Amino acid sequence: MIPAVETCGLVKDYGRTRALRGVDLRVLPGEVFGFLGPNGAGKSTTIRLIMDLLRPTAGTVEVFGVAPAAGGPRLRARIGYLPGELSFPARTTARDHLRYLAALRGGRGVERAAELAERFSLDLSRPLRSLSKGNKQKVGLVQAFMHEPELLVLDEPTGGLDPLLQREFRALARESVAGGATIFLSSHVLGEVEEVAGRVAIIRDGRVVDVDDVRALRARAGQEVLLRFADPVALQEFAGLPGVHDAAVDPADGRTLTCLLRGDPMPLLGAATRHRVVRWQAQDRELEDLFIDFYRDPERSAATTAVPPGPPAGPRHRAPETRR
Ligand code: ADP
Repeated sequence: MIPAVETCGLVKDYGRTRALRGVDLRVLPGEVFGFLGPNGAGKSTTIRLIMDLLRPTAGTVEVFGVAPAAGGPRLRARIGYLPGELSFPARTTARDHLRYLAALRGGRGVERAAELAERFSLDLSRPLRSLSKGNKQKVGLVQAFMHEPELLVLDEPTGGLDPLLQREFRALARESVAGGATIFLSSHVLGEVEEVAGRVAIIRDGRVVDVDDVRALRARAGQEVLLRFADPVALQEFAGLPGVHDAAVDPADGRTLTCLLRGDPMPLLGAATRHRVVRWQAQDRELEDLFIDFYRDPERSAATTAVPPGPPAGPRHRAPETRR
């Protein structure tokens, strides 16, 4: 099977700044592949290399088995791209802009663009310049999806969209994949990709440090749980339970238990309900928490991690960082 996107040992320098330090990625046709990393990790740089807006310092990129530089307009027509930073012509309305793009693509997508605009409640008669950030993002999404491309390369697609529109975006992404498309999308927030992505690569400091199924990643990240009981509880009842980590009982009141829960919640819930529970709080952990885990316990993280070949000075080998 020819990958939709494949990068091998991708290195990119901006002058003296090394933005990518050997990125290996393989996105298969039909996948929704999340590209997750904090700001400055190298997501946009990788995406611009995929789109042939930049050329690599070293390493290779292929899209549908073709180097983007060699693929030209024919390859480009198979891709829908949402840039991280949108820039539009100043005086044009959204409608004229989308019509112009459709004309460039041989007339493809005019009707679909109108449908998508309707779906995202986007007023096409407004000048692009006057649109809010969220509305500009909608135009960006419409222009990426309107020609029903085989591959969607989306740089932070849900940034600036309210929760309702994020849901609409996810529905659109699922429909596109059901219709045979492949989606490669970046984000700095795990929560934004987990509802839509299958596999996820995590990039940090220009290197892919983890590739995993998003559900496994979520299970690994776990939840911060707080339980308050009517009466004092003993830590030993909870500390050794499967899936329960870092359990602690607040010494001030003796009846507030906090822990990190990974995996099946039943053992913890079973133990908790032997007491009268007066408060229950569970908070999904985020991307930064996963990084903290890498530093704290490299072995456990490594056990479920596919690390691409690279110099041994990867993030996992560095000294622990303090929590931000
Ligand atoms: P992300 O998309 O993950 O936020 P970027 O790919 O934009 O990360 O940036 C990766 C690194 O490259 C950062 O250190 C950033 O400051 C640097 N960088 C990005 N674009 C440029 C540029 N045009 N010139 C110089 N440095 C850049």
